[in-house]
Amino acid sequence: MAFVERVRRIGVMGGTFDPIHHGHLVAASEVQSYFDLDEVIFVPTGQPWQKSDRKVSPPEDRYLMTVIATASNPRFSVSRVDIDRPGPTYTIDTLRDLSALYPDAELFFITGADALAQILTWRDVDEMFKLAQFVGCTRPGTEQLELPLDQLPMNRITLLEVPALAISSTECRARVAKGNPTWYLVPDGIVQYIAKRELYTNR
Ligand code: ATP
Ligand code: MG
Repeated sequence: MAFVERVRRIGVMGGTFDPIHHGHLVAASEVQSYFDLDEVIFVPTGQPWQKSDRKVSPPEDRYLMTVIATASNPRFSVSRVDIDRPGPTYTIDTLRDLSALYPDAELFFITGADALAQILTWRDVDEMFKLAQFVGCTRPGTEQLELPLDQLPMNRITLLEVPALAISSTECRARVAKGNPTWYLVPDGIVQYIAKRELYTNR
């Protein structure tokens, strides 16, 4: 019997990761296991277009934190496609770049329920759904997911309940600014990196 090679299945976890925290990591790990993904690629955004009102940490710091947090997992890796592309980051560009890099792979874009609820406002939605399947993970605070069901290709979307971790980057930044600990909310290396680079201290 001929050996048929399985199509490579790649998860794509986009985010600002300012900083990356255990909510991101648990969601990625759950989706990896549920869909039996070969790999999950974390993609830190360049300048996120929805966050142009807030000062985002330098891309290189967010990239390095993502590398530090994912380094020990053989199935996790980090891509620079978004931080190396000039201008604001749109998911469609991320997916175009990754499908060009992995033309034979099946892509699964992983996003929190809060982000998924906004998806129709994203640029080039129709093409986005052609390039990837979308996986929406539950996230505390977004229990009532208001999805415009009639306007979405639900055969390209899976909603997945992941162990809910009530952690957000916003909360982590606020804790650092107040001098409160972030141990166990983020990986140890991230606590140390934030201190070393004096991130989020408003100085
Ligand atoms: P911020 O508070 O600055 O918006 P964040 O915690 O939402 O940060 P992002 O980098 O914006 O983190 O999120 C990247 C992706 O991870 C988004 O799709 C978001 O919905 C998802 N996500 C973030 N936190 C969690 C969590 N605790 N559980 C599940 N998904 C999450
Ligand atoms: Mg967010």
